[in-house]
Amino acid sequence: MIRKVLSVGPLQCNCVILADEATREAVVVDPGDDADRILMALAADRLRVAAILHTHAHIDHMGATAKLAQATGAPTYLHADDSLLHHLMPQQARMIGLANPEPVRIDRALGDGDVIKFGSHSMSVLHTPGHSPGSVSFVVDGERLCLSGDTLFDGGVGRTDLWGGDSAALANSIRARLYGLAGDVEVIPGARSRNHHRPRAPHQPVRARMPASAGMTTAEIARFCVIPAHEGVAKVVCVRSGRAQVVVEPARGA
Ligand SMILES: [Zn+2]
Repeated sequence: MIRKVLSVGPLQCNCVILADEATREAVVVDPGDDADRILMALAADRLRVAAILHTHAHIDHMGATAKLAQATGAPTYLHADDSLLHHLMPQQARMIGLANPEPVRIDRALGDGDVIKFGSHSMSVLHTPGHSPGSVSFVVDGERLCLSGDTLFDGGVGRTDLWGGDSAALANSIRARLYGLAGDVEVIPGARSRNHHRPRAPHQPVRARMPASAGMTTAEIARFCVIPAHEGVAKVVCVRSGRAQVVVEPARGA
């Protein structure tokens, strides 16, 4: 499977491209910004986009969706519980001082248990509310890989003080859904590590810092053991065992 992680936009959203090597069919998850860079990354491997997916409807995860959808003709997906957040995009832009984004049309609703296919690969949708009502995680079947969106961060969990955030729901999503994944699972969280520039010995884990509002214990959060990818943009967390794995995808043209 082809896997690329591009850190896009001022908030360094992890935009993830997954594709089937044989059919070149791809999915793009969270095209937050830098549409041209995402299109270049797709063109470099002659990938055809089958679906544009969102882990949730925060502006830093949807900023390039309209342009990418126009350029590729691919359908766009979002969980219905984030519809209001999606419609509040202009307010989100004002809140963090970004230009008003082009309106994004959502073609299909994501639901818990849905399976998204691309070539011979597939991934399942887990509804993991808390960071936002319609937050989802994608679990790639057979790859032991999870794209968690902002449910998990490098060294912590997603904030719950934004509109629709719910700390009890977030803790429940992590405990009941993500801990429930069998065995070790690599997790690509929703944003580039805030700690990536900090020099650290290889394989030295970053100790998690817990946002007090999440209601989870330090020991629980410490199960997310993070190692920064030195020159790359992907940050990978390993759930459960504490053994971390690193995926490095150098930023193209950066
Ligand atoms: Zn978010």
